[in-house]
This record gives sequence, C-alpha cells and structure tokens, in this order.
Amino acid sequence: MPHIATTNPATGQVLKTYEAMSTEQLDGAIERTHLAYQQLRATTVDQRARWMNAAADVLDAERDEIARIMTTEMGKTYASAQAEVTKCATAARFYADKAPAFLADEPADSAAVKATRAFIRYQPIGVVLAVMPWNFPLWQVMRFAAPALMAGNTGLLKHASNVPQTALLLEDVFRRAGFPEGAFTTVLVGSDAVDRILSDPRVRAATLTGSEPAGRSIAQIAGRELKKTVLELGGSDPFVVMPSADVDRAAEVATTARCQNNGQSCIAAKRFIVHTDVFDAFAGKFAANMAALRVGDPMDADTDVGPLASERGRDEVHAQVRDAVDNGATVLCGGELPGGDGWFYPPTVVTDLTPQMRMWTEEVFGPVAGLFRVSSYEEAIEVANGTNFGLGSNAWTRDPDEQERFATDLDAGNVFVNGMTTSYPELPFGGVKNSGYGRELSALGMREFCNTKTVWVGEGAASAGAGAHAE
Ligand code: NAP
Repeated sequence: MPHIATTNPATGQVLKTYEAMSTEQLDGAIERTHLAYQQLRATTVDQRARWMNAAADVLDAERDEIARIMTTEMGKTYASAQAEVTKCATAARFYADKAPAFLADEPADSAAVKATRAFIRYQPIGVVLAVMPWNFPLWQVMRFAAPALMAGNTGLLKHASNVPQTALLLEDVFRRAGFPEGAFTTVLVGSDAVDRILSDPRVRAATLTGSEPAGRSIAQIAGRELKKTVLELGGSDPFVVMPSADVDRAAEVATTARCQNNGQSCIAAKRFIVHTDVFDAFAGKFAANMAALRVGDPMDADTDVGPLASERGRDEVHAQVRDAVDNGATVLCGGELPGGDGWFYPPTVVTDLTPQMRMWTEEVFGPVAGLFRVSSYEEAIEVANGTNFGLGSNAWTRDPDEQERFATDLDAGNVFVNGMTTSYPELPFGGVKNSGYGRELSALGMREFCNTKTVWVGEGAASAGAGAHAE
C-alpha cells in the first residue's frame, strides 16, 4: 500500500495520512478528465485565458496559506514558498496572455507546396498525465498545467506521495477558477499505479519531473503504449569559475545556487569547477558563505536552509559525503549529521574529489557542494561535461570569447553566464543526456502536447489566409 501522507520534515511528525484511490475511483477520475477534454477542446482560447487568469488571482489571494502548506509538507523556507506561489501566478498569466499567439495558425510557403494555402495548426491531444516531484510542489505542476490547459488539453496529476495537500489544492484552484469539472484532476495513488494510468487509451501522453529511474520506467511504459513523453530528470550542474570572473560575486551566487530550496533543486549548481588561479580565493569565500547560512525552522524568517524533505533523502546525502571522506576527500565545512528532530543537514563543501567517489558523477540532492580544481578552459569543459547529466550549467568569466565558447561547449539544456540557472516562462527549460528530453515553458513547452497539424488546401478554396484561427 503506498504511503500517502503529510509528514513535517522539520519535526518528523506525521500530520495527515490519505488512503490511495481504489482502481474504481482511479478509473472514474480518468473518465472525468477524458470527458472534460471533450468540453475543454470546444472552448475558445479567450475563455480558457479568463479561467487561467482567475486561477492566478486565487493563487495571489491565497498565497500565504498555500505557502504554509508547502513548507509543512516538504520543508522549504516559508519565504521561498511564498515566492513560488507568486511565480506560479505569473506563469499562469503569461500563458493566458501568450496562448493566442502560441496557438495561432502558422502560414507556410503555399507556392512551394503547390497549394492555394498551407499552414500549421496547433491542436490539443487529450488527457495528459503529469507525474510530479515534491521539491517545487506548486511550480513543477503549474509549468505543465498552465500551457496544457491553455492548449485545450486536460491534466491528470499524480503528485509525489509526500505532498498530498498541495496536490489536492491544485485541483481545487483550477475548479474554483471556473475550468470545467475534471479539466484538472488529482489522483492520490502511488507510483505503482502509473503503468495502469498510462496504459489507459483515454490518456494520450505523459510528462514526468523526477529521478532517472522514474524516467526510465515511464519511458518504457510509454514506449510500449506508443505515447509521447516529456522527461525532466536529475542534474549535477557545473558552475565554472574562470580567472577573469568577479570571484566575490561568483562565491555569493554559488552559495544561493547550491542551497536554494534546501539544496533540493534539479538545476542547483552542484559541482563547482574552479580555475587554479582563483581556486583558493573562491574556495575560502564560498566555504565561509556556506558555513554562515542559518539552518533551522523553515517557518522562521531568519532561516536560510530548512530540513531535507525526507529522512531517506538525508541519509542518502550523508552517505555520499561519507563515501567521499572515507576515500580521501577534504571537508571545508559541514559534513556532520546533526542530532535532534527533523531532517536537517548542514551546508557542506567537499574538495579533493576523485572519479572513484560517488560525488564525482552522482547528483547530490541536498546542500552539499563538490569543489574541483582545473588548470585550463579545456579541463574545465572536460570535468563539466564528464557526467551522464546535462540539465543546467553556469560559467563565470568576463572574457567575451570565453563566454561564447562556454555557450557552445557546455553539454546542457541551458547555459547561464555570470548568473545562476533559473526558470522563466519566457525561456525553454529541459535537459540533454540522462537529464531527459523535451522542453517545458515558452511556446515550445505548450507545443510538446499539441498535434502540430499540417493543413494543405488546393484549388477551389476560399481566399482567407492562415493566421486567424487559435483554438
Ligand atoms: P522520484 O522518486 O522520481 O519521484 C518523482 C515522482 O515520480 C513522484 O510522483 C513519484 O511518486 C514518481 N515515481 C517514482 N518512481 C516511479 C516509477 N518507477 N514509476 C512511475 N513514477 C514514479 O523523484 P524524487 O527523488 O522524489 O525527486 C528528486 C528528483 O527529481 C531528482 O533527481 C531531481 O533532480 C529531479 N527533478 C528534476 C527536475 C527537472 O526539471 N529536470 C525538477 C525537479 C526535480 P511517489 O512519490 O509516489 O514515489
């Protein structure tokens, strides 16, 4: 039986438990979402935009209560939870505003294809399953839901088992915003139910944000069932610091880039690859900044780093650090498991890593930084690209030629130069290699779950051109 529950990571206390849905209840939920698709696809984009803007208004109005639930369920600081709710409202408004343009017919070269007119039309495909993680429990869902619903698809959410309250409130927000009953449905089930859901002919596609094993499992099911997937998986993002960089600023941003969300972000910088000319200066400042962060109650406004979301997650992070230390690595700060309640872990910097250590290639999902010394641009690229991941990447240099080279040479879904990786509704988001495939956000994110339909019209057609339609 899957364990679906709210457990406060700051105390370890189980606050609420939920029964997983029965097979019959799950079937009913899929049917509701399927029927809602027939309704939603027949609505205009302007109508959907009104509902999506109303959802943004609900989020804004109820920001503090939603943030409190998120903090209680997974331990992020209350201030960062509030910011996450606001970011979701912004993304909802972005898609409400941009969907007419993103979905508008796109004219093609009719003469070249011997048509009176030819164009591309973007249409919804049906029920999309979203399997989502707990780390940004509102944002991960909203960045799928806003473009999907605006395109006329309906969403079936299977959220992580430790954030059931956030999962249920998302369904409630879309319903209260006016979307048809079933347009966005939350199912309380464990991951063992995903095969059944994705095999159902009423479900047309799936998006997963989560770990590599979950990605492999969903991709296998989807392959068998011939269904489209978008996979946003793990990362071990490089953060390269070159001699021309503003080292003080880089060390400051590095601290945030590693420890935001208590170190549990797929696009957190995790491997700090520093040129030997500035290594000592960077390492000293970075370790001092990390050690100065305040770890504690996530509801407290003075707290920088709250607990990790689960005991299992904390054990794993500590095991990765111990593996490095036992094999000869040096700890510059942190690295000790604290006593007391809750699943806290101190900001930690580890250096003198070797390829035999787990931290060299594995993702560390907590406030732990690996520090690597390199002596050339080429070596920096080799270390940066030397994992199976390829999600985000950061390069710090004031040399314009190097900036260009990093933009090309870093093997990742994004490159942020002199800044930390973050997501914006305006920019595509996703990875390469084992970090997954497909893109979220921007127009690309919306079109991942659209039927990109070619329309070719021969002689005898009315003269109206493409461009007027936006479903
Ligand atoms: P996880 O175990 O993969 O869980 C994520 C979701 O997948 C949960 O809903 C989980 O359900 C479900 N799931 C787990 N195993 C599954 C399986 N075999 N088949 C189908 N569904 C399955 O991930 P996590 O460890 O909680 O989250 C952290 C991971 O997510 C990290 O690797 C992180 O980098 C990645 N992540 C990636 C992005 C991105 O955008 N690329 C963003 C955030 C996080 P249950 O909770 O019921 O097990």
